[in-house]
Order: sequence, then structure tokens, then C-alpha cells
Amino acid sequence: MEEQEKKTLGERIEEKYGCSCSCCDDLIRNQGISDPDIARAAYEAGILYPRILYQDAPADVRDKLIDLLDKGEPDKNLINNYLVALAMIGDETVAEYFQKWEEAPRPWRESLYVGPYHYAEEGGWCIENGKKRQLFFDACYALEKSETAAPEENVYGGTAEEKCPFCESSYVNVLVLDGRDERLSFLGFHGKIKIKYCEGCLPWSGTVFCKYVEDGESTILRHDDGEEYFCDDEDLNDRTPFVLSKKMVPKSYCDEFERCAVGGRPAFVDDASFAVCPECGKKMMHLAQLGEEWTTCGTHYIQICRDCQIAAIQYQQT
Ligand SMILES: [Zn+2]
Ligand SMILES: [Zn+2]
Repeated sequence: MEEQEKKTLGERIEEKYGCSCSCCDDLIRNQGISDPDIARAAYEAGILYPRILYQDAPADVRDKLIDLLDKGEPDKNLINNYLVALAMIGDETVAEYFQKWEEAPRPWRESLYVGPYHYAEEGGWCIENGKKRQLFFDACYALEKSETAAPEENVYGGTAEEKCPFCESSYVNVLVLDGRDERLSFLGFHGKIKIKYCEGCLPWSGTVFCKYVEDGESTILRHDDGEEYFCDDEDLNDRTPFVLSKKMVPKSYCDEFERCAVGGRPAFVDDASFAVCPECGKKMMHLAQLGEEWTTCGTHYIQICRDCQIAAIQYQQT
């Protein structure tokens, strides 16, 4: 009987979308489809990956996963996937259990390198003072190459006046966003902000922090290390413009790490990594992902603390 039901749900998905639930990830990523039956069918078929299948999964799937980890004997090799799936659901109930399991670890905790709080970040949220806080914006606009963009549409700002102390290349305003652009109203900026870093040094420099002001130049706060790899101003300025997409894209658009967007949920190449604001000590929020559609190598993650007006730029590579 159960076998029958399993088949029916899987078949229904296939009928509706023309693909089995294990390949519905593209629909979720690109079309923003949110269908509780996708996660149901995936769970029933024992498919836990790609994680995006569990984004906003319904309460019944969530509760099965929670029960398994809280009271059951989960397969040791799948605990990582179960926790990532729950992190992608990331509602208040999941947050409650992650907190419980962090404070009173279950036996499966021994098989993991990191605890549930770290997994929360894989889903783009954290627990702060006992409360869940989302670390990304639901609104998302893709960053697209455009040969014909007007200069003011280009979100890449080219070289800044200041030079990098490690490699003597000019710092670049890697991302210039105008808060007056209606599409970006979700960010709550009132003017133009410029995020600055050294392109040549980023892979070696750890997290770079800069303080931004609205309608002014930003200041590098911390840039720890570098590489003596000089980038010519001409090369740094000779780039195809990138512009914001006209229309909003799904929040999971960046689920593939070669993609570029402002807002939405980031996809980390390695473990999730949200910088801690050097001023207030809180986890910073994801602002933009610049993947290899933009960069020559690796994915850049730009995060911000809006209270302190600080941005962090991190780098990850396959
Ligand atoms: Zn440098
Ligand atoms: Zn702060």
C-alpha cells in the first residue's frame, strides 16, 4: 500500500513538471516554484540532495526529519544531509530544535565536525540571543553581463584612488549599488554605496572589511595579507559591465555558486561562512554573490552589517 502511495506522489510530480522530484531543483532555482509535494516526494524516495528540494518544505516533512534526529536512530552517514535539509526549511520549529540539540547534543553529534548552529548557516540563518535571525534577503536580482549598458547602470565601479599595500594595485569598487534604485529598496540604503577590495589579493587575504558611507567612498578597515600580484589599472577598468536584472529572480537563484546576484540566499563552495561584524560582533547579512560568471576564479561573497555600515568580502574556491 505504501509503495503504491509513494509511486503516486512521484508520478504526480512527474506529470506536473515533466521531471522526477530529484531534478526539480532547476525549477525551484530558476522559476521559484514552491510545491510542498516536491519535498514530500523526495523524502519518500529517500532523496536528500540537492538541498534546494527542501527549501520551505511543509511541516509534515519537517516533523519527520525532526523526529528521526530527536527520537530515532538516524543513519550516521545521512545526518549531514538531514541537518542541511532542516536548515533549508529553517522555520521557528527547526530553530527551536537546533537550539535544543546544540545545548543538549544527541548521540549523532559525535559523528559531526560542527554542531547544529553551523548547519543553520548552511540554510542562511543563525540563532542570536535565543532567536532565529535570517542572514539573507528574500528579494534577489541577478547580475548580468551587458555589452550595451549605460555607465550608470554598471554595478562594477572600476578602480578607486587608493592602492593596496600588499601588491600596489589599485583597490577596486567591486560593487556599486544605488539605494535610490527602486529594485534595491529592500536593502534600505538611501544613497549609493561602494564596496571596495583588492582583486589581486582577495584569494590570499582572508576576509576583507570595509566601512561604507552612502554617497561617498568606502574605507578599508582590515585587509590582512596579500600577494605580490600587480593588476594594471587598464585591465581593472576594462571590464564588460554588469547590471541588475530588470525583474526579480527567485531567492534561490544563487543556489549554483557560479551565479551572481544581489540579495537572495548564497551557495557556498565550502562550508557556509558568514563574517562577524568587527564593530558589533553580530553575524553579517548576505548582500551579494559574485561567482565565476563574473570573477576569473572563485566565488566572492559580500556581506554587510547595516547597523555599523561595514561590508565583508570573502572568497571561496572549488
Ligand atoms: Zn593587493
Ligand atoms: Zn555591526
